[in-house]
Amino acid sequence: MTTPIVRLPVRPEHAGIEPYGAPQLDVPVLLNVNENPYPPGEDVVATIAADVASAARSLNRYPDRDFSALRADLVEYLAGESGVRLSPERLWAANGSNEVMLQILQAFGGPGRTALSFAPTYSMYPEYARDTSTRWVVGRRAEDFSLDLEHVRRTIAAERPAVILLASPNNPTGTALPTAVVEAVCEAALEVHAAGTDGAPAVVVVDEAYGEFRRAGTPSALELLDRYPHLAVSRTMSKAFALAGARVGYLAASAELVDALRVVRLPYHLSAVTQAVARAALAHAPALLAQVEALRVERDATVGWLRSQRSAAAGGAALQVADSDANFVLFGSFDDRHAVWQGLLDHGVLIRETGPDGWLRVSIGTPEEMRAFKDALVEVAGL
Ligand SMILES: *Cc1c(COP(=O)(O)O)cnc(C)c1O
Repeated sequence: MTTPIVRLPVRPEHAGIEPYGAPQLDVPVLLNVNENPYPPGEDVVATIAADVASAARSLNRYPDRDFSALRADLVEYLAGESGVRLSPERLWAANGSNEVMLQILQAFGGPGRTALSFAPTYSMYPEYARDTSTRWVVGRRAEDFSLDLEHVRRTIAAERPAVILLASPNNPTGTALPTAVVEAVCEAALEVHAAGTDGAPAVVVVDEAYGEFRRAGTPSALELLDRYPHLAVSRTMSKAFALAGARVGYLAASAELVDALRVVRLPYHLSAVTQAVARAALAHAPALLAQVEALRVERDATVGWLRSQRSAAAGGAALQVADSDANFVLFGSFDDRHAVWQGLLDHGVLIRETGPDGWLRVSIGTPEEMRAFKDALVEVAGL
């Protein structure tokens, strides 16, 4: 019997769309998805294994759908990391901060509503909007990738978004937002009634996926939470915590905002295994975060090194390098960035072809990996 040919009722906005994702290639030096290059130590692995074994004994039961123990651990972690102590009902977690932010759009976006961000920024944001039938509007960042507050205020007033997504530090540029800017965006949102609502302001999401890598003196938007019930700060264990494979992201906000997320989450969305892994990792937070300082130092050295280079592939000009508060660096501008990317790959170094035309992004790896990256770039880009 031959399989009959049927046309599936694919949503028109999904027709012909390729699934998102950076290439997963088997090469020696992986510097393309901003992972922490240091795997968890053996003591952390042992705790995770023991706690997962203990969770396995009750896998016949659904997990705690409110992940109360994990929330309590997250409260302690944030209090230590940022000096901001929140009550547990103001914390939320899901399978990666991507799921957290999709839930934000499910709760606050939808038909007749608008989500707004400022490019260049994280390429998943428009996908959350598309998949929740939320209108997507993107403003621009200034030449140095900072936010131009005049432009931001005008865009909010004109577009009346229900959700504003701001990554800080921003991906792919590495730019952190000063507290005064987040404050100004929260205030601007309060002055506008979001389209498709009964007069509510926009929810402002500050995506601090790279928060732990911020340079000394750069505050977290967590400090503003008590003043703005329409503000949410999203974090992840995928980057600084070296736990990308576990898929744990979380958010801090007002209890009302978290309540709205509880409505859209799938039943028992956070598995007992995930909760056990996340709690074991949080119990070892200092060990898992031990390499963050080394990665910061390596990042600053990479920025300095790139800035001192001229490149034949950039028309003989000095390389431009964005300031970075994250664990990656955006640099350019190459006449043919794809050729530079491919040349590095041919040398066994995978980086990311992303950001404005002509620019490339490299994640910060171990000193050996960064040496391999520099050696390859010298050859490929004619430094
Ligand atoms: C990596 C990243 C995340 C984290 O994604 P997870 O789903 O938590 O792994 C979130 N936001 C930005 C901007 C990122 O680059």
